[in-house]
Amino acid sequence: MPNLTTPQISELKNGFKGDVILSGDGAYESARKIWNGMIDKRPALIARCAGTPDIVRTVNFARDTGAMLAVRGGGHNIAGNAICDDGVVLDLSGMKAVSVDAGARRATVEGGATLADFDAATQAHGLSTPMGINSTTGVAGLTLGGGFGWLSRKHGMTVDNLESAEVVTAAGEVVRASAKQHPDLFWALRGGSGNFGVVSRFEFRLHPLGPEVLTGLVVYPIAEAKAVLRKYDDFVAQAPDDLTVWSVLRLAPPLPFLRPEFHGKGIVVLAIFYAGDPKQGESLIAPLRTLGTVLGEHIGVQPYAAWQQTFDPLLTPGARNYWKSHNFSTLKDGLFDAVLASIATLPGPECEIFFGGIGGATTRPAADSTAYAHRDARYVMNVHGRWQDPADDARCVGWARDFFKASAPFASGGVYVNFLTADEGDRVANAYGPNYERLARVKRQYDPGNLFRVNQNIKPS
Ligand SMILES: Cc1cc2nc3c(=O)[nH]c(=O)nc-3n(C[C@H](O)[C@H](O)[C@H](O)COP(=O)(O)OP(=O)(O)OC[C@H]3O[C@@H](n4cnc5c(N)ncnc54)[C@H](O)[C@@H]3O)c2cc1C
Repeated sequence: MPNLTTPQISELKNGFKGDVILSGDGAYESARKIWNGMIDKRPALIARCAGTPDIVRTVNFARDTGAMLAVRGGGHNIAGNAICDDGVVLDLSGMKAVSVDAGARRATVEGGATLADFDAATQAHGLSTPMGINSTTGVAGLTLGGGFGWLSRKHGMTVDNLESAEVVTAAGEVVRASAKQHPDLFWALRGGSGNFGVVSRFEFRLHPLGPEVLTGLVVYPIAEAKAVLRKYDDFVAQAPDDLTVWSVLRLAPPLPFLRPEFHGKGIVVLAIFYAGDPKQGESLIAPLRTLGTVLGEHIGVQPYAAWQQTFDPLLTPGARNYWKSHNFSTLKDGLFDAVLASIATLPGPECEIFFGGIGGATTRPAADSTAYAHRDARYVMNVHGRWQDPADDARCVGWARDFFKASAPFASGGVYVNFLTADEGDRVANAYGPNYERLARVKRQYDPGNLFRVNQNIKPS
């Protein structure tokens, strides 16, 4: 890769409305940090864009100089694809505007917005659309990989609610992709990750929600995990689309509603979200409080935007993180044994295994209706290794890999592209599943030189 010269950088800066940050600048060290503290890369420059013309300028610059180009939305990607060594980072963190047309139930969201930005703007009108469960996540990367969260059983994947996108292509052209304009590109953006261009703006369909919703946590002892998980799977299989329940296995954090003697002990947590009328939800969720010996519970009506931030304190940026993930269409008994063995060897208090319950509306579209293909998934499992001290790297990574292997026989074969780590190049084909070939053809059309390759990469066919 060529070294960037001072005249080239001056040329980029000329007319650039945002900031061009270079190594040695005061802002450089914080600008190169991303959510996963294990990623430590030093780009040649960070182009913090202030608008679409800056994006066009940066794309043209990277293409014409032959520099590696990484695109940063919210910077949450576990594989560290928001950043690269030596090349150019096109940083969208200065473009976070969200505007809502409440009458038309549409939101227009800039490419650097986080879920917190999205929730604040949309919930002001009692509207929302499926997004993730941690408010500092970027809307862009989440959407481009598929996107799921508390509203997905009711309204589908995030991409099922995407109406259009403004995209800067590898050629530096600004195009609008929708069902009618550049339909192949629009199809590919809905699950094909950052392979097809820089999305400067997304347009989402919105749905009425809350603002008050029924949510909560119920905590069971790990000793009862097998029975609780079995009943949980049965319950979820017949639950209405309004109701979403995730299960999390870990050591108990010092939750205020848990007695101190349970802190640090193995637990199964059911995280419950009801998207309908809270009064109707209460009777529906009642069985979830009778699956075993309840150690503690905290259930009530609260603003959706607050629930969206409930897990933020456990997911703060900067920690070391290593994930492994499988999709499941059902939870089987052998899997529970593997889960229990893994929880018995947890390497630290921040590590956990979760089963994110999707299904419902996410399973109804055909697998080829969007680039996101995993319409058979009812659970997205993530073994979330998380720790602070680099000395624990091998132990925590090894633990995550062990459970990944032990749980593989029970998985459906697919994997969520947004949960792949940097060392899983061999699983990229599984992440795009049966849609890979078509994605490779669209890639050839819009990015034949593979300019956008710092991602779970699709090679132009
Ligand atoms: C704590 C945490 C919780 C999470 N919870 C969920 C969840 O509930 N549901 C879920 O679906 N996912 C979840 N994820 C996964 C999340 O979807 C991915 O990490 C996603 O990549 C984050 O997007 P980002 O914009 O923050 O990431 P970035 O690291 O900035 O980008 C991710 C990828 O997208 C590309 N990209 C980013 N912005 C653009 C753009 N505007 N145009 C083109 N390409 C772009 C990047 O180049 C990169 O390849 C979670 C992740 C974390 C760390």
